[in-house]
Amino acid sequence: MPMSADRNVNLLAELARRPGNSECNECGSKKPEWASYNIGVFLCTRCAGIHRGLGAHISKVKHLKLDRWEDSQVEHMKEVGNVAAKLKYEQRVPPCYRRPTESDPQVLLEQWIRAKYERLEFTNPENQVYTSGYMQGFLMKRGKDDNKYHPRRFVLQEKDGTLRYFVKEKKEPKAILNVIDLNVAFAPAKLDCANSMQLSFVKDGGTRHIFVLHNDPEEIVKWYTAIRCVKLHRYQVAYPSASESEVRPIDRQISQGNNLTKLWAHFDELCEY
Ligand SMILES: [Zn+2]
Repeated sequence: MPMSADRNVNLLAELARRPGNSECNECGSKKPEWASYNIGVFLCTRCAGIHRGLGAHISKVKHLKLDRWEDSQVEHMKEVGNVAAKLKYEQRVPPCYRRPTESDPQVLLEQWIRAKYERLEFTNPENQVYTSGYMQGFLMKRGKDDNKYHPRRFVLQEKDGTLRYFVKEKKEPKAILNVIDLNVAFAPAKLDCANSMQLSFVKDGGTRHIFVLHNDPEEIVKWYTAIRCVKLHRYQVAYPSASESEVRPIDRQISQGNNLTKLWAHFDELCEY
């Protein structure tokens, strides 16, 4: 191995141990072994795979030890790193957006990475369609009796805090759900489908579930996020004196804080991966 290559491997290993770089930039898992050398971030194997899927025009991925590095590329990793890249690409992450962890399903992690670098949602907030307070569209809903999926139109409204769905157009909604009572989770293992979501609520003393799918992963994550945004808004209306940090969802760590935090903890508890 030439001297400079040897030096670069050692330099990268040293950079990867620095605070911020010692965890994957996207999911927080320990000891990342990969990097995106144009963006300047350290990544775990799984997130490196997602970065590669974005295409080299967005992210250029290398292994810290197994690939050959140019001096200038190592220099760029030194200049940027995870802390500075977060300041740049995560400037405006809405408080209702779920920041993925390593135990989250692929669909959430992939859409987080695409939102950040492909759609630039957190640097250009006008790209955040799910924060508008209204969303409508078709989702495939599992029938209660036949277990088959049927297209149903769903409408989410922040102004009255409801999610409703329609079996037939121009008729009354089949159900009107209060978002504040709704738990939303991804259910890929349960439904054997990556782009699936489980909506749960309590009715007549029992827990009911609604299972929905969409063939576009971006769409299902938009619905998931939009419901969280409406729910956060309803909490803020219900508890006007609470600060944003009190009502915002706690994703990375569930603190033993106030009741609102516990509500959010419960909100994510139903996730089954
Ligand atoms: Zn990762």
